[in-house]
Amino acid sequence: MKIRYFAQLALAFALNALDAAPLPSIPDRAPAPLAVYYAFDNPPPAGVFTELQRELGRILAPAGLRTAWRVVDTRQGSAEDFPSIVVFRFNGKCSLENEPAGPGDAPLPLAQTRIADGRVLPFGNVNCEAVREFIAPAVKLAGFAVRNEVLGRALARVTAHEIYHMLTGSETHAREGIARAALSRADLTNTTFFFARMQTDWIKSWVEKQRPVNQAARPGNPQIAGMASSRNAEQPALFVASH
Ligand SMILES: [Zn+2]
Repeated sequence: MKIRYFAQLALAFALNALDAAPLPSIPDRAPAPLAVYYAFDNPPPAGVFTELQRELGRILAPAGLRTAWRVVDTRQGSAEDFPSIVVFRFNGKCSLENEPAGPGDAPLPLAQTRIADGRVLPFGNVNCEAVREFIAPAVKLAGFAVRNEVLGRALARVTAHEIYHMLTGSETHAREGIARAALSRADLTNTTFFFARMQTDWIKSWVEKQRPVNQAARPGNPQIAGMASSRNAEQPALFVASH
């Protein structure tokens, strides 16, 4: 299946993307094996988005996986080819300039990846509202810039968790690191937090399989047929916070 067709499905997934304003991206060193297509319900402050990109880069660097961020833009479509793509929509308000009213300690779905017929699809949602409410107690004394930097870092870790599901095509979790079934507030807000060695090694092997471009290794290809034929069977895999 042509990756362009795949990208068009990604665009279809990100409904209402016309409202998503393009945001500045960190320059990519070509070629990146994985494109992260994204759309925000509400454009985040630059500090949040910059840290989201940087932290995801730091998380994936030990595995040698670089990503190219591309805004979902239904007006232009996609003229680029990538070995693999994942698609994320960031829901709610992705900003911490005002402290959220939520209690900050209830188990919340932070993100989800779509599943159809038991197959993990490369389409995910990150719940900005849940993430910011969850981490708010850890940053309530910090200034505006620091709060949003920490929010961007937390969003990156949640996103990385879902990317792991998408690349592996599995709902399986790890016992340590970002691929754990649930992450604590400290996991999301501490200065550093990474995948455990075993998951890093798996991602590293995935990166190796992308050279040369291997259509069969692309995440999502078999899932696309499943999605088209079983839309009603889609279920979200929730990723919740723990304490
Ligand atoms: Zn998970």
